[in-house]
Amino acid sequence: MLQPSRPPEWQESAADHLWMPYCQMKTAPSPLPVESTQGVRIRLSDGRELIDAMASWWCACHGYNHPHIVDALVQQAQRMPHVMMGGLQHQPAADLARRLADLLPGDLSHVFLCDSGSVAVEVAMKMAMQFHRQTEQPRRKTFIAFDRAYHGDTTGAMSLCDPVRSMHAEFSGGLLEQIHLPIPECDASRSALRDTLQRHGSTIAGVFIEPTVQGAGGMRFHDPDVLTFLRSQCDQHGVLMIADELATGFGRTGVMFGVDSADVTPDIICLGKSLTGGAIGLAATVATDRVFGAFWSDDSQNAFMHGPTFMGNPLACAAACASLELFEREPRLQQAKAIEDQLSTWLKPAESIPRVVDVRCKGGIGVIQVDRLDHLDRLRSRFVEEGIWIRPFGDVIYTTPALNIASEDLKTIADAMVRVTEQWSTW
Ligand SMILES: *Cc1c(COP(=O)(O)O)cnc(C)c1O
Repeated sequence: MLQPSRPPEWQESAADHLWMPYCQMKTAPSPLPVESTQGVRIRLSDGRELIDAMASWWCACHGYNHPHIVDALVQQAQRMPHVMMGGLQHQPAADLARRLADLLPGDLSHVFLCDSGSVAVEVAMKMAMQFHRQTEQPRRKTFIAFDRAYHGDTTGAMSLCDPVRSMHAEFSGGLLEQIHLPIPECDASRSALRDTLQRHGSTIAGVFIEPTVQGAGGMRFHDPDVLTFLRSQCDQHGVLMIADELATGFGRTGVMFGVDSADVTPDIICLGKSLTGGAIGLAATVATDRVFGAFWSDDSQNAFMHGPTFMGNPLACAAACASLELFEREPRLQQAKAIEDQLSTWLKPAESIPRVVDVRCKGGIGVIQVDRLDHLDRLRSRFVEEGIWIRPFGDVIYTTPALNIASEDLKTIADAMVRVTEQWSTW
């Protein structure tokens, strides 16, 4: 492999002006300058190539620059990159809404588009509160969310994240107050949820859950019967069940949507990330007939009052339609299951490494969980030396590759994960 060389000239001004995410700008190592992407490869300015183990925060599900998506973007860019959605509509948005309605379980068929996952969560919160106001339950304004949850970085979404372990802990006191409970996967946590609903049920608007996999909270898996239990509790207490499928949607866990693994229809579902195949930002909040019905009225006051400037951006909608065509044409779900099988075998040797707490795989997700992630910068740069782009965080070293990654590339990633974790454990 090529050795790192001098950074490109543009990176000098980046250090002065570009404020990076989740980053102590003073002490962090310089970000890697990227020249281009192709398939599962990230090409750096000095010519080095990295195999991408995380599909850009698990959203580039078909790999980068998929020609079908690029074509859709180019054609749409020539016709109409953007037009406002207030009072205007266009075919890419209409096609996307119909496709999503066909694909989603039950009668989830009323699609509200927006520009990012966090905003899709905000939209779901507003939708739920207004739903209750318009069905004569105006006291229902609080939400239940689970320990280890991650629902986004905007302030409403932050109030739903784990209040202690999330990266938002230092804002506590400045956020909406919600109820945080353990995931109801055992008798004790199920009683806690039941008790809370019995005691505060009439003030609760909805329960947010990341179905089957909690992502940024540490790649934690739970059994699909949690969803069945939650559905029945929500029904019993008139509370909306809101599925945040930003991370789990579009095949990542081996089924199209996390809720499919329990055959449950939530009242509202939030989608994003892989929605456009990771090519451009877009998110959606989709409601059932019953939720939508509460807004259907002769009274203009009952309209849903939200409308991001770039709502339903035609470029993003065209990319999303192209991505959904790829899901129809190509065996993405089988590929996700094949990743699970292969990673389960290839990551298994990590179980015997000291300081490794757990090794687990589900669909296109492979996780090595450790006792405590120290030497993080050194660990990340070791992976780059191995030719792998991977970004361990929290207590996990994980991969969420493109679902159509070639076996050889996946093997390279898995072997590097085991080898580097082993080295790290002795530092
Ligand atoms: C990524 C993510 C979000 C936030 O989406 P953004 O597009 O980054 O705002 C919310 N919830 C979950 C589960 C996510 O994985």
